Amino acid sequence: MKQINQFIEFVRDQYNTTDFIPLHEPRFQGNEKKYVMETIDSTFVSSVGAYVDKFEEIMADISQTQRAVAVVNGTAALQVALRLAGVKQGDEVLTQALTFVATANSIAYNNAHPVFLDVDLDTMGLSPKAVEAFLEEFGDLREGGCYNKETGNRIAACLPMHTFGFPVHLNELMDVCNRWNILVVEDAAESIGSSYHGKPTGSFGQLGIYSFNGNKIVTAGGGGTIVTNDKELGDFAKHLTTTAKKPHKYEYVHDELGHNYRMPNLNAALICAQLEQLDSFIENKRTLAERYESFFREQGIKFRTENPDTKANYWLMCVELNDREVRDQFLNGTNERGIMTRPIWQLMYKLPMYEHCFRDEQTNARYLENRIVNIPSSVRI
Ligand SMILES: *Cc1c(COP(=O)(O)O)cnc(C)c1O
Repeated sequence: MKQINQFIEFVRDQYNTTDFIPLHEPRFQGNEKKYVMETIDSTFVSSVGAYVDKFEEIMADISQTQRAVAVVNGTAALQVALRLAGVKQGDEVLTQALTFVATANSIAYNNAHPVFLDVDLDTMGLSPKAVEAFLEEFGDLREGGCYNKETGNRIAACLPMHTFGFPVHLNELMDVCNRWNILVVEDAAESIGSSYHGKPTGSFGQLGIYSFNGNKIVTAGGGGTIVTNDKELGDFAKHLTTTAKKPHKYEYVHDELGHNYRMPNLNAALICAQLEQLDSFIENKRTLAERYESFFREQGIKFRTENPDTKANYWLMCVELNDREVRDQFLNGTNERGIMTRPIWQLMYKLPMYEHCFRDEQTNARYLENRIVNIPSSVRI
C-alpha cells in the first residue's frame, strides 16, 4: 500500500493536479481550431477537401511508404488491409491473442479464421518463434501459397500488433513469413512514431495501418490510415474505401463491392494539426517514461522500456507487477483514488466469439495478462 501511495503522489506531481487523471487524453495545443474552422468556413467538411489529401501526404512521409490512404478508423483500415492482402472466406490469419479486439475482429469481418499464437515477453507482440513453431508443425508450402496441413485452409496472412507502441521483432518475423510465403499486414494502430532499426513500424509488411482514435497519441476524433509501398495497391485501397466509384462526369459507376470508409475533411483537418505536434508529443512522453523508469526502479517494480535498436512512442506506458493479486491491489488502490490504471487486454480466445479458434500454449501471453498494467501516459502540459 505504501508503494501505491508513493505512486499516486508521483503521478499527481507529474500532471500537477489533484483532479482525476485519465490513462490518455488528447492535447490540442497547435493549429487544431484554425484548421477545423477553415473546413467549416469553406463548407468542405465532408468527403471532399484539401485536408484529406494533405493528411495522406503527411502519413506517407511519416511512415516512409509510397502511399497512405485516409479512412474512418483503424478498424476499417485493418478490415480493408486484410482484404487487399488477399484474405478470403475460410482462410487463416496468424495473429496474437494479446491484443485489442479490433485486430481479431478485422479477420472475422473477412470471414477468415484468426489463429492465436504467443507473444514475446520482451515486446508483448507476436513472437516470430511462435509463428515459426506453428508453421513447422502445420505449414504446408504449395504452389498457391501456404496451407494448414490439418485444416486444409490457406494461411493467407500474418497480422502482428505493436503493443502499446513497442515494435515486435520485425526482422525475424518478416524472415519467417517470407520463407513460408505469407504476407504480413502490420497492426501499427498504437505505434505511430515508433521505429525498428530506424524504420517506422507499419512500413515493413505489404500493408500497415494506424489509428487516430481519441485515445491514441494523436487523434482525428476518429480516423485511420492504410499504408503500403505498393503504389498500385494503395490506389486500389483508396478506390475500395471510397465506394469503388469509377471517375465519370455524372454517372454512378461502381466496379467492386466498395466501402464508405472515407475520412471526412473535418477529421482530416484535426489530425493534420495534431501531426504537426507528433514529435514533440513523443519527446514529452519519453521524458515521462524516463521519470517513471527511475521511480519504479527505486520501488523494485519493472517499468516496461523499449528494446535496443528500437524506438517506442510510449503511447500507453506500463508496469509489470509480480502476480495477479498484486496487480488487482494496484488496480483497486489507484482507481479508487482517481488515478486511472487498466490491466492489459483479456486474451482473445477468452471472448465468446473467439473461444473456438486455434491457439498455441500462450505461455507468455498468459504471463503478461496477469501482470501488465497501464498507467497514466498523457502528454504533460
Ligand atoms: C485502437 C486500435 C485499433 C482500432 O482503431 P480504431 O481507430 O479505434 O478503430 C486497432 N488495433 C489496435 C491494436 C488498437 O489499439
